[in-house]
Amino acid sequence: MATPARYRMEELSWDEYKRRIEAGAILFLPCGALEQHGYHLPLGTDVTIPLCLALRLAPQVNGIVAPPLSYGYKSQPLSGGGQHFPGTTSLDGQTLTWLTRDVLKEFMRHGATRIVLLQGHMENTFFLIEGIDLARRESAAYTGKILLIEWWQLLSSPTLDQVFDQNFPGWELEHAALVETALMMYFRPELVQTEKITAEKVEHPLPYHLFPYPPDMVTPSGSLSPAHRASREKGEALVEEIVAAALAILQREFGEDTAS
Ligand code: ZN
Ligand code: MN
Repeated sequence: MATPARYRMEELSWDEYKRRIEAGAILFLPCGALEQHGYHLPLGTDVTIPLCLALRLAPQVNGIVAPPLSYGYKSQPLSGGGQHFPGTTSLDGQTLTWLTRDVLKEFMRHGATRIVLLQGHMENTFFLIEGIDLARRESAAYTGKILLIEWWQLLSSPTLDQVFDQNFPGWELEHAALVETALMMYFRPELVQTEKITAEKVEHPLPYHLFPYPPDMVTPSGSLSPAHRASREKGEALVEEIVAAALAILQREFGEDTAS
């Protein structure tokens, strides 16, 4: 009987990994956070979603999924609820930058020429970009390509109009709300406590940053918009669109031979 294919980097031996990388495997690095997600979603929501997406994509593109970056940059009140919630465990920007840089330099040393950061926590973005930039600057001979994909950017306006019934609040306030809840209902339903979903929302988000911020700037639960209209079916439709868009990007950037 054939051995089932394995896609997680930590489950491969070094010589298997080397062979796959030499054959042009796409190396996925899921990037997330440990951050409150309301009363109804787990602290690891932002890393679970990109990890599950990467595990969905990998078998379709000769991919390998590296262990995720499970800690992220500091939660901001109007995109993640803020740092005052127990459980939210964040890195200084410099730490995340250097963690990203160090991991990427190692992937480059391995000969990985197709690297995809699949990112699930809004506050991470520019620190990941800085890590990519520093790694590239220190590896001048590197000729490979690195992509940074934020999964929420792959959803189309018609889909959002449909899922939100024309009331999409914008991605900042979509924290621990409809989309993340629907995606978790699809990927990890056993971790979603639907009976604890609230109707809370941030009514008047400040159009500026404020230090220190008053904790009542966000809702008590930490959800920034209501999640009660989430469903597994919506989650499935969202995943289908994200996966199709991601596959199109991988094919465009890495060529036809990404199909396994
Ligand atoms: Zn989130
Ligand atoms: Mn987040």
